[in-house]
Amino acid sequence: MTAAKNRILELRAELDQHNYRYHVLDEPSIPDIEYDRLFHELKALEAANPELVTSDSPTQRVGSAALSAFTQVRHEVPMLSLGNAFEETDMREFDRRVTEGLDLPVGDLFGGGAAVEYSCEPKLDGLAVSLLYQDGVLVRGATRGDGTTGEDISVNVRTVRNIPLKLHGTGWPATLEVRGEVFMSKAGFERLNATQLEVGGKTFANPRNAAAGSLRQLDSKITANRPLEFCCYGIGQVSADIAETHIGNLQQLKAWGLPISHELKLANGIAECLAYYRDIGERRNALPYEIDGVVFKVNSIAAQRELGFRAREPRWAIAHKFPAMEELTELLDVEFQVGRTGAVTPVARLKPVKVAGVTVANATLHNMDEVARLGLMIGDTVIIRRAGDVIPQVVQVVLERRPDNARPVKIPEQCPVCGSHVERTQLVKRSKGRETISEGAVYRCVGRLACGAQLKQAIIHFVSRRAMDIEGLGDKSVEQLVDEGLVSSPADLYALKFEDIVDLEGFAEVSSNKLLSAIEGSKKPGLARFIYALGIPDVGEETAKVLARSLGSLERVQRALPQVLTYLPDVGLEVAHEIHSFFEDAHNQQVIADLLKHGLQIQDQGDLGAEFAASTTLGGFLDKLHIPSVGPGGAQKLAEKFGSLQGVMSADWLDMRQALPEKQANSVREFFASEENRQLAEAAEKQLADFGMHWQSEKKVVEGLPLAGQTWVLTGSLELMSRDVAKDKLESLGAKVAGSVSAKTHCVVAGPGAGSKLTKANELGLKVLDEEAFVGFLKDHGVPV
Ligand code: NAD
Repeated sequence: MTAAKNRILELRAELDQHNYRYHVLDEPSIPDIEYDRLFHELKALEAANPELVTSDSPTQRVGSAALSAFTQVRHEVPMLSLGNAFEETDMREFDRRVTEGLDLPVGDLFGGGAAVEYSCEPKLDGLAVSLLYQDGVLVRGATRGDGTTGEDISVNVRTVRNIPLKLHGTGWPATLEVRGEVFMSKAGFERLNATQLEVGGKTFANPRNAAAGSLRQLDSKITANRPLEFCCYGIGQVSADIAETHIGNLQQLKAWGLPISHELKLANGIAECLAYYRDIGERRNALPYEIDGVVFKVNSIAAQRELGFRAREPRWAIAHKFPAMEELTELLDVEFQVGRTGAVTPVARLKPVKVAGVTVANATLHNMDEVARLGLMIGDTVIIRRAGDVIPQVVQVVLERRPDNARPVKIPEQCPVCGSHVERTQLVKRSKGRETISEGAVYRCVGRLACGAQLKQAIIHFVSRRAMDIEGLGDKSVEQLVDEGLVSSPADLYALKFEDIVDLEGFAEVSSNKLLSAIEGSKKPGLARFIYALGIPDVGEETAKVLARSLGSLERVQRALPQVLTYLPDVGLEVAHEIHSFFEDAHNQQVIADLLKHGLQIQDQGDLGAEFAASTTLGGFLDKLHIPSVGPGGAQKLAEKFGSLQGVMSADWLDMRQALPEKQANSVREFFASEENRQLAEAAEKQLADFGMHWQSEKKVVEGLPLAGQTWVLTGSLELMSRDVAKDKLESLGAKVAGSVSAKTHCVVAGPGAGSKLTKANELGLKVLDEEAFVGFLKDHGVPV
């Protein structure tokens, strides 16, 4: 007896604490399933010892007290919780209680009972809110709180986009309290967490915590920026009845502009309820929002009134829960896996646990930044989440269950596979001529192909279908070939002999010959395929195709300087550096040379891609040099003025000043005063020329055009075309289009609303054209309008 009493007191204190964290702080420390276990333990103990039940027990109450930072709101009609069922038998038991409660005939194994009408709705996992409409106008929004007293969150609910501030149509009761769930879609949740990670803000373990944390904000501006949605599932206080059934009520609310579930259905009897549950269960992963079960309600309002309430829940409704997506388990160890590009990734080894029907023993930890963000230690109790088809993730540490002997997670200094040094990657960013280097989240084993793990992965990638497409060489065979020392680089595959293969596990005469001919058959890969097969970090199939198409030959790809590579579509400086350093590496050079020696003939090599060749202009090239404070516009001016890189580098101060304002002119001269910058620029220019790219000097292009040497100004608004289009047209005639009027301006095009520029043009006695005259001028010069 005292043991039971003690346990009851212990459980109450613990559940109170979890209720507070969940309902008030929106920061639960354990998954729901663990809370439910403790709750059911308490319920069972109280059922066995009814004399110990007190009204303040969590089994008798709803939620938790309102947060005092918000104004409090009294619910005229209490906002209750729901009873829940996990098994079909619980549901049949619920149906029996309802049928009995309504004095209807109860069936037996052979049927024969009355079929009660139930409404079926998904149980959205968010936060319950009450919306009060007076004469059709939203006057108050509140949380559930402890069911009797909630928090006034009127300002916040107004920011939820699908909550109508005014009801549509007519005929609503003067007082209408609507109840429903504010939730966050799966996509909204992913987006929010991604932005939070970017700005170093707090991330959320699941959409429900994100929704609750977003809605209960003291600053409604934060709420307004969160992707919250509302779904209505019932009514509270009303000054007049609406319909005779629950579904009738909801359909009327929908007509008044309130969103209700698209999945709302009527079930005739318990069997149809169970079918609905199974159907939604199968579609659960595909729904755009998270649900934790299905809510069934007796559809007739009269029957609901007859059945009434128990302490914390109605007798006419039940939540049939789905298997939980979060579970508790123990982090036994963190191991490090080495990937194809040498990335050393932490993987959580977990005490096996069933999550939503699947046993989970490992979970990805992404990188060491993630380990730090989670504050993870070996020995910790952690929350594992397995949402849909996504690989299991560790979402949280249960700090209060951290054992004394918990150990920190340390990145190994040596590669666990080959013993080479493990380095933290660096991120190179170049902006405004300055290179900044920061620490990346990834650690890499520097062993490259000398590392067994990387070698195996490299070969598996090399032979894969989208790479060299060598059929008959599975992962296990590759591992054997590497372990037996028969293959230590992709080139060794082409030296394999029948007797090397036939003794491998899973091989016999026929399969060995087949493999040899598959290897032989792979000797004429397309250039893109071959580049992809090399497994250059950050170079996927698409980038490989771009490299092949643009540069046209392996030789050019191997030689390309990072500055030249950045001309390729979607190749940034970081990837350009990866590609360049891959081909600079002596070991990689050897592998490529060996592959060619073994008779590999790379196909479709040829000229530089036309689109690439056309993509270079001198202005664009100068812009890519990232001269501090010189943007694309400044680079263009330099190109126009000097016509070549040499011209820019040797320009004197006065000439430079004619092209650019003082600060930029200084910056260009300073930039080219550095021998290193000159060499880099010259090398890139030379390489582009070697590759057969010759940019037209903008100067020459302009010469000979009708408006060459003229400066035009556009002001006011144009009706027939945008200012940008007008600018393009003028430039196609060789004019320069400037932003301000001076004595050097040749002509001003002034549309309606032109102001000070037009006044100045008139003062200076410049030629001014209105839009009509301008269009006529363009047509006279053969420019289509
Ligand atoms: P509940 O969430 O199981 O059910 C009631 C709630 O369901 C309603 O308040 C409403 O918000 C929601 N709901 C969604 N769709 C609905 C629909 N169509 N019709 C009616 N209601 C609908 O019960 P509860 O009392 O709000 O909270 C208990 C839940 O909270 C349990 O799942 C429990 O695990 C969890 N909890 C977790 C912790 C923790 O520490 N992890 C602490 C406290 C509570």
